[in-house]
Amino acid sequence: MLVQIGSTANRRRLPEFLRKPQSDYRAVTELKRELRGKYLHTVCESARCPNLHECFSRRAATFMILGNLCTRGCTFCSVPKGDPKKKPFGLDAQEPANVARQAAEMALRYVVITSVNRDELPDGGSGHWAETVLAVRQALPEAQIETLTPDFNGDTSAVERVLAAGPHVFNHNMETIARLYRRVRPQADYNQSLAVLRYAKTSHPAILTKSGLMVGLGEKHEEVKQLLRDLRRDGLTDIATIGQYLQPTRRNRAVARFVEPAEYEEWKAFGRSIGFRAVFAGPFVRSSYMADLVAHEAGC
Ligand code: SF4
Repeated sequence: MLVQIGSTANRRRLPEFLRKPQSDYRAVTELKRELRGKYLHTVCESARCPNLHECFSRRAATFMILGNLCTRGCTFCSVPKGDPKKKPFGLDAQEPANVARQAAEMALRYVVITSVNRDELPDGGSGHWAETVLAVRQALPEAQIETLTPDFNGDTSAVERVLAAGPHVFNHNMETIARLYRRVRPQADYNQSLAVLRYAKTSHPAILTKSGLMVGLGEKHEEVKQLLRDLRRDGLTDIATIGQYLQPTRRNRAVARFVEPAEYEEWKAFGRSIGFRAVFAGPFVRSSYMADLVAHEAGC
């Protein structure tokens, strides 16, 4: 059986190198049951990640905190959207403790946490972020923690709150090249996202910084190189990830092209040549895919 990427309507046929066999259904079902039992969400499920079966089978997952409804409308993303003015989202005060408990039960040595955007909260959810990082640290003192955060609308006090909790890796995804921002991340800003990474690197130089982008959204090869250059300016980013965008549902932006595996090799070599400690690139790469191995390659 092959992974089905969302609905089949208006889909382009997947090339052979983007077909992935699914695996251990029992392990996947069991992990989903554990997560639901603690009211937890994962971006793996909400974003319909093509690696879900592989990751869940080896009991790896990326916790998605601050609920399962996002205040933004990025056109690549299938995480459910909502308007908190019409229907408040709420916030599960038990979520930090439950993430920590689940991570401990999974005996994780590397914990990746991400979140939806919660632009309506005065602190953007950064206090909840910090609580979650601290709870995981208390439950698993030996584990390394990667935080894949939103841009907090460029609020550096919110970014600082997450960094002060002491993650080992601070990840903020650029997602796409500058020219496509308005169509792909309409409520975000290219320079603001770079500024978030710059703040992290300059204020906490010992924490590794990481960022990722999707290709196949309409960018050109050279524009990806320019983004990599921007990420490396002043040494602000240590790790880059590049992977193929796959339209998760019919409502999301269509795939512009399927990038051939050889092209990733060129970006990897280029990224290395301009100083990234690690560049993880390939058709199935996602920013949290094999995050532990990538962090170790970068010296974490
Ligand atoms: S690659 Fe990341 S988002 Fe996808 S299933 Fe694995 S851990 Fe989850």
